[in-house]
Amino acid sequence: MHYQPKTDLLQNRIILVTGASDGIGREAALTYARYGASVILLGRNEDKLRAVAQELNHLYGGTPHWFTLDLLTATPQDCEHLAQKLTGLVPRLDGVLHNAGMLGDVAPMAQQDPQTWQNVMQVNVNATFFLTQALLPLLLKSDAGSLVFTSSSVGRQGRAGWGAYAASKFATEGMMQVLAEEYKQQNLRVNCINPGGTRTAMRASAFPTEDPQKLKTPRDLMPLYLWLMGDDSRRKTGMSFDAQPNRKPGISE
Ligand code: NDP
Repeated sequence: MHYQPKTDLLQNRIILVTGASDGIGREAALTYARYGASVILLGRNEDKLRAVAQELNHLYGGTPHWFTLDLLTATPQDCEHLAQKLTGLVPRLDGVLHNAGMLGDVAPMAQQDPQTWQNVMQVNVNATFFLTQALLPLLLKSDAGSLVFTSSSVGRQGRAGWGAYAASKFATEGMMQVLAEEYKQQNLRVNCINPGGTRTAMRASAFPTEDPQKLKTPRDLMPLYLWLMGDDSRRKTGMSFDAQPNRKPGISE
């Protein structure tokens, strides 16, 4: 995507990022802050989150709020509790990037481990829903809220071996579409990003033989991540965007 955002694109915006400790989410948090946003970091690993918060502090000043929440065990009550804490700290949320995700088994359906299947659904779908439900009141306080889910090419077209992950990403697309319809008369837009194959730990575990140098980095994807959080996408809702529109799904040759 060729997009030249204004340097103050996200000034005065408050944006929460899940899975902010690594990969695409970490890069998104750093990028949103670079364009002026106050970011709130969510993740499951305290040390990694603290390191991202320190990096943000070093680069842009201020101390971002960060919270640990393991989506594998998160209940609706945990998410509500977090939302209550946030309500005491910030007046609203202008953006939420649901980025945290779990890959599960890359294996045929017949060999998908049922417990791993449930874990993938818990992290990618159920906890993402619990968190969305808890954060909606804060998002609706924004005059231009942006709720962004993270999908995948296997969330639009099933592919052998992608089991629970593919099913969870189809569910993610569905959740996005339902919410977009429900809030289309209000100041909340809801969309999906499909990052496309990107140089991260998750990608390396899905394609261990792939040369990571052939993949785009999280930083390369940031124009779309910025555009969806800023005013230039204000009229878009219910859509699923590709961060790498010309990339063919599957292993990079
Ligand atoms: P990474 O593995 O690099 O990062 C995943 C992030 O999610 C990490 O911050 C991780 O935390 C967090 N996370 C994982 N499990 C949990 C959990 N139980 N509770 C809380 N946080 C958790 O992956 P990517 O950056 O590649 O993936 C980001 C998103 O992009 C995912 O939704 C993925 O499905 C999607 N995607 C990625 C593609 C790619 O090629 N990379 C392609 C298509 C979609 P921790 O640091 O503790 O591990």
